[in-house]
Amino acid sequence: MSTDRYSRQIRFAPFGAAGQEKLGAATAVIVGCGALGTVQASLLARAGTGMIRLIDRDYVEESNLQRQLLYIEADARDALPKAEAARRRLLEANSAIAVEAHVSDLNPENADELLGEADVILDATDNFETRYLINDYAVREGVPWIYGAAVGGYGIAMPVLPADSACFRCVYPAPPGGAQPTCETAGVLGPVTSLIGSLQAIEAMKILSGRMAAVRRRIFTADVWNGPIRETPIPARDPDCPCCARREFTWLGGRRAPVSLCGRNAVQIHELRRPIDLAQLASRLDGLGEVRGNEFALRFRAGEHELTVFPDGRAIIKGTTDIGVARGIYARYIGG
Ligand SMILES: [Zn+2]
Repeated sequence: MSTDRYSRQIRFAPFGAAGQEKLGAATAVIVGCGALGTVQASLLARAGTGMIRLIDRDYVEESNLQRQLLYIEADARDALPKAEAARRRLLEANSAIAVEAHVSDLNPENADELLGEADVILDATDNFETRYLINDYAVREGVPWIYGAAVGGYGIAMPVLPADSACFRCVYPAPPGGAQPTCETAGVLGPVTSLIGSLQAIEAMKILSGRMAAVRRRIFTADVWNGPIRETPIPARDPDCPCCARREFTWLGGRRAPVSLCGRNAVQIHELRRPIDLAQLASRLDGLGEVRGNEFALRFRAGEHELTVFPDGRAIIKGTTDIGVARGIYARYIGG
């Protein structure tokens, strides 16, 4: 490897050659490959993070291209899983690092396997359930993680340093109640996701390069349309926090609901651990509707519904928020 590749960040004295060497031996796990995740992954890959593990359950769609910076039109056309599309693009940018793609939904059963060996975990998910799960794992294992979220023109980021600062449950004891704005209902601007993803990436780079003292122990919030942009101190640790004080890791011990809304007009069915031969399924569905696919996913359109099936039996049914309807479609075309 030419030393020229990283010369500009090595020249930045607080990072330096020693920081570069540590970064090159470190592992970052990115949970979610949407807008935040693609920004984090791109920056960390180009910076020379030795190993990047990408976890995402979804596939690229046209409406992602406005802000999910690693994807191109062909990825949406081919319905490539995001983790795989991102892996390919990252390796084109930096072939000297290792990138793993996991087309998977992070849950209590696979958390040890998917988050194992992480030196830092970056949150690029869109839901509190997964964040509590990451927090439980990170506190139990003593792994730093970086919370981030964005919707509309608003974004927030906060590092969680187990045994050092408040954990996510200290700050958010319970998920917010009622309907929350989502990127589907309230929209989201590309610059705010890029801003938050970048802030998460720099804190990750500090952690991975061994510069823990430089990590900003602050909650960063920004309303990029109306202002303001500000930082507030992270609250003190809750001495009675169920997670970091009492060490009850309830989210790790729980089981995911077998069927869940995907936050848009879609339902995910994921309780079935049954490998599916996608080529076989494609020939079975041929003639019943429009079938497209690749080795990672098969997409089938029937009427107003669109079914995307993954090799592990998981499926996302678009065009409904009715769990019963989704189950019916799954049963009709894949089997009960
Ligand atoms: Zn706590």
